[in-house]
Amino acid sequence: MNCDICGELVPEEDSFIVLPEQIVQARDKGYIPARLPDSWKTDDVTSAQKIEAQWHLVVDENALVDWLLCPSCHLELIQHQKAQSSVSL
Ligand SMILES: [Zn+2]
Repeated sequence: MNCDICGELVPEEDSFIVLPEQIVQARDKGYIPARLPDSWKTDDVTSAQKIEAQWHLVVDENALVDWLLCPSCHLELIQHQKAQSSVSL
């Protein structure tokens, strides 16, 4: 199994299944993964803005399917959600 964010191989017992709504909500609150695959950073996609646009596209394309995340990406997502919820308090 590969992480749906960073693309790294992750053993099934270490993987986290995340509902697409969680990804969409986090994305809508400005979440951009720090561990997006290097393949995104081609000559055509160098600027942060382009990477962000591609991330938005990927989220939209996968807004109806569960996401499989490695522990690192899952932790990052959780931390982003916590940070956002503490801001809204
Ligand atoms: Zn990952």
